[in-house]
Amino acid sequence: MPNTPNWYDEGMGHIWLPYTQMKTAVPPLPVASTNGVRLTLSDGRELIDGIASWWAAAHGYNHPHILDAMKQQLEAMPHAMFGGLVNEPALKLAKRLAAMMPGDLNRVFIAESGSVSVEVAMKMALQYYFNRGEKRTKFVHFRGTYHGDTLGTMAVCDPEEGMHGLFGDVLAKNLLADLPRTQEAADQFAAFLKKHASDVAAVITEPLVQGAGGMVFHQPETLRWLREACDDAGVLLIVDEIFTGFYRTGSRFAVDQAGIVPDMLTLSKALSGGVSPLSVCIARESVFDAFYDDDPSKALMHGPTYMGHALGCAAANASLDLFEREDYAAKVHAIEGQMMAELAPCGFAPNVKSVRVKGAIGVVQLEDASAIETLKPKFVERGVWIRPFRDIVYLTPPLTIGEDDLGTLTGAIRDVLGA
Ligand SMILES: *Cc1c(COP(=O)(O)O)cnc(C)c1O
Repeated sequence: MPNTPNWYDEGMGHIWLPYTQMKTAVPPLPVASTNGVRLTLSDGRELIDGIASWWAAAHGYNHPHILDAMKQQLEAMPHAMFGGLVNEPALKLAKRLAAMMPGDLNRVFIAESGSVSVEVAMKMALQYYFNRGEKRTKFVHFRGTYHGDTLGTMAVCDPEEGMHGLFGDVLAKNLLADLPRTQEAADQFAAFLKKHASDVAAVITEPLVQGAGGMVFHQPETLRWLREACDDAGVLLIVDEIFTGFYRTGSRFAVDQAGIVPDMLTLSKALSGGVSPLSVCIARESVFDAFYDDDPSKALMHGPTYMGHALGCAAANASLDLFEREDYAAKVHAIEGQMMAELAPCGFAPNVKSVRVKGAIGVVQLEDASAIETLKPKFVERGVWIRPFRDIVYLTPPLTIGEDDLGTLTGAIRDVLGA
């Protein structure tokens, strides 16, 4: 690539990039700085970000409130181990998240990445039953879903998708089901779960949107059916809100739209506003109770080195300030309306199968996915950062994006798809 900085030329021969065929991939772009909804490349070009750094930068980049909170924390204490010691940002975060949660989702375990928080939820479910004298070893998971890249979470992702299909033989064997979308399917699912209940620790799902699986939506009823089936069969329910949490689907949490209380709920991505790696698994008091005992072996057996990371928790507390202080539901409502109006014409473009919008997620699905790779540079040429994958071109912009910048993003999609 022309005009690349020295660090790029010197480092590219040593870095190993994610999900990238290093031999044939188009070289990545060097990004030098960020601000608001913009990425600035090292050659000075600016791109409006339509993806919000994998859905994390909910408040836009370099939000002064988050940066100030982190600077203060950095001076006082970047981090201290969470074993035998606790810190103020972590405990504040736990208290605040518990207060935001529905029902008795009241105990917050703090980890670093989304995948690890899902691993923690899965371990909680397994040990919940062990502690009660039951050996349950399996999870029920759904087609089209994504819960992370670690070996445990891969075993509850869609088994056939390109991302993890390769590892099928070495992954734990769980029970795969279709997400129920009708009452009839819900009844069948409930019967299926009941039949296997004695071996199932938890059902795990993404709520309302299967994100990395292709931005596929489902109705809140589906979540209510899952909750009923789990209650009926006596199985725990894990809801993974790592993508949907913090207004992405319109409500603060996706479960709010269904009015259900899962047994464990995971959050990451927008939790820290996309600034610091941070995730949480929040459990109901009834789950916590199964670990609360005089017997030390009943304690939860997990503890990441960077657990309760003070700097990351300071970022998350500042992110929560912003979510509390400003009307994000209204912001997302406006984004949703604008994306519906401005992406609708794509429905008439050649090679477009469907257009769908939920909250701040706008999706144009193509008939023929083979064109996807050729689209990427066309977006960069138009000054926008949009990363089509599978058979979809989609937008998940920072929730703070203004009308004009969002118009530039939707305009680029119409233009590139020939709408
Ligand atoms: C991104 C994502 C994860 C994994 O989070 P990482 O931080 O990438 O490990 C898990 N579940 C869902 C729903 C996600 O969108």
